[in-house]
Amino acid sequence: MELDELYQDILLDHYRHPRNAAPVPDDRLQAEEINPSCGDHIRLAAEIGPDGRLVCVRHESTGCAISTASASMMSEFVRGRTPAEVIACADRFTAMMRDETPFDPMGDEDLHALEGVKKFPLRVKCATMCWHALKKALEPRA
Ligand code: ZN
Repeated sequence: MELDELYQDILLDHYRHPRNAAPVPDDRLQAEEINPSCGDHIRLAAEIGPDGRLVCVRHESTGCAISTASASMMSEFVRGRTPAEVIACADRFTAMMRDETPFDPMGDEDLHALEGVKKFPLRVKCATMCWHALKKALEPRA
């Protein structure tokens, strides 16, 4: 199997079966982002455990495959990390997708599936939108 195909399969799997996806009611909503150029939309709620680490990021994502898959991957990636760590990863991920720094999946091989997106500048926002939303939700608590 070609590497590109493998990454495409990972991406489609996250799109079709997004991890930690569930409706986020208004009274639990912590951050919301839209990407008008593509029509992507995310609502999310981050749950932090008594040890100060993320237990779960519940997200409600609508839009293209890249935005939904990216939110699904992010929700898995951040589990067990502290808000400060996650904010640093969000900045790093955004810089990688903008090609400002070399791509590094930060220990999560699934994130590699998004690397190809950086070749399409108009789609970069699709991949980074969920991280902006999560940062917004966590910054007051970091
Ligand atoms: Zn999109």
